This record gives sequence, structure tokens and C-alpha cells, in this order.
Amino acid sequence: MTADLYRQLKRQLCTSLGESEASAVAFWLLEDEAGLSKTDVLMGRADTLSPEQTDRLCSMARRIGMGEPVQYVLGHTDFCNLRIQVAPGVLIPRPETEGLVRLSLSMLPPCRSASETSCPTMLRPRRSQHSLRILDLCTGSGCIALALKHACPDATVEGWDLSDDTLRIARANAEALGLDVGFRKADVLNPQTSTSDRQEAELCLIVSNPPYVCEGERADMEARVLDHEPSMALFVPDDDALRFYRALARWGVVMPAATTLVAVEINRRFGNDVVAVFREHGYSDVQLHQDSYGNDRYVQATYLHGTN
Ligand code: GLN
Repeated sequence: MTADLYRQLKRQLCTSLGESEASAVAFWLLEDEAGLSKTDVLMGRADTLSPEQTDRLCSMARRIGMGEPVQYVLGHTDFCNLRIQVAPGVLIPRPETEGLVRLSLSMLPPCRSASETSCPTMLRPRRSQHSLRILDLCTGSGCIALALKHACPDATVEGWDLSDDTLRIARANAEALGLDVGFRKADVLNPQTSTSDRQEAELCLIVSNPPYVCEGERADMEARVLDHEPSMALFVPDDDALRFYRALARWGVVMPAATTLVAVEINRRFGNDVVAVFREHGYSDVQLHQDSYGNDRYVQATYLHGTN
């Protein structure tokens, strides 16, 4: 048995990760950095890497062992089958947010594209006769906007965020993926339409994974998240936990579209409260959905302009 590098990486990772997670991350690093499969590693091929590659892998494992998130150390993660670049300053896309993309796609008019069968199920291209505008508010890395553009090539897709760091990464992601998504600086908490927002669409989808963790929930969170990920993307004040949902509901109302669909990710503690926010703003068909763990995690709503 010659898989010494694997064992060395695992030992370094064990400083901050449990045994089985350290093992999974060691395989992940070897695959990502050196293109080695698990079988390659178990057959000892990790020990044939160059000294430079070995040093690089060891230094990555050391950083992760000191508490840095794997995705920041690698510089990317996968989201809805797309490679998304991440760096400190941008929230790392979470698996439950793929559920928000799935929910959003399920709300859109059915696909008519002949090429749909060749694509992974959740990212089948959707073409509609309607003009479709998609806005991802608090876009972060741009992962949601990019996954939706990939699935709906005919839609006009934009991502808005307040952070310049985040917008830089989102634009780099759009460029690397060759997806035409416009990213712009905007304060989501301040809903208003300006002349540049006067883009009429028959159908508008507003999607958002806004900050929703209460300051009071910090104690329940992992150090890895608290010490490295941007607080601005995570936290809301305990006494105003629904601030982003009220703003999102107002955005939907002022959007120049015949119909606005909204899909948002939520704190599982506030499912019914978020539903109430959309009902109070005149939305219909307001539905609460669960994530794969059975937690209340998403709300969808429809605003029919002209009927309210
Ligand atoms: N789900 C994320 C977490 O628990 C929070 C994302 C958010 O606040 N939008 O870390």
C-alpha cells in the first residue's frame, strides 16, 4: 500500500474535519488538482505526482485543516452542473439552493425545445413564446442567474447585488461559462423602478436567496462559515428578519410585466411569515415548499398586474 500522500493529506485535514469528511475531501483535492480518481489514489498513483504538485496539495490541505472552506481553497464549486468560481467575499453556493433553481424552472411555461432530452433533467432548456425576464436579486456568485440562463437560453437574465467584490466574481463566472447574464449594482432593499428598469416583459421571474440567518442564530453556525463567508450575505437583524422578503414582494409589484412570479429561499423558521408577506402584498398562489431534509425552505408566489 503506497497511498502515502492521501494519508498525509487526510491527517492535515483531520485538524478541522471529522474522519470521514477528511477522507472525502482528500479524494476531492486529489481529483480536482491532479485528476486522480479514487481508484487511482487507492492504487498508489498519488505518490507518483511531482514534488510541486505534492507541495501544492499539502498546502491546500493545511489551509483547509486551519478552517478555510474547501471551495475557497479550490477556487470553485459545482452548482446545477455548472462550475462556479468562488472566493472570499462571495457566499459559497449551497446544495439546497439548487432546489430553488428547480422550483423556479417548475414555475415557468413548459419547454418546447427539441434538444431538451439531451440535457440533464434539471437544466433542460426551456423555450417559451412569452418574453421572459429573470431577475436574481442578491445574486452573489451569480450561480442562480447563470443556472437559469443555461436552462432558459431565450430569457433575458440579470443578477443584482450591492457588493462590488461579488459582482466582479459573478461577471467572471458569466464570462467563463459563456452565458449572457447582465450583472449590476443595486440595492435590493430599496425597490424602485428607474428608466433602465422600464423593460416590459410579459412574464418576469424574480428569484432570490437573500440573507436570512438571524444574528441570534450565530451560535448554531459552523466556525468555517462564520470566520470565512461574508456576513453581509448571511445575516439579518433579529428584529427585522423578513426585511428582504418585504422588499422582494415590493419589487414584484413595481416590475413592468403582465405577470411576476417570485421564488425565494427562506429560513426554515419563517415559512408562514414569508407566505404572509406575499399575501399581504396582493400575491396569489402563494406556496411553501420543503427542501430535501423536509425543512420549510422555499416560497413561490404570483403577482398578476392589473388585477390588484
Ligand atoms: N443556507 C445558508 C446557510 O445556512 C444561508 C444562506 C442565506 O442566508 N441566504 O449558511
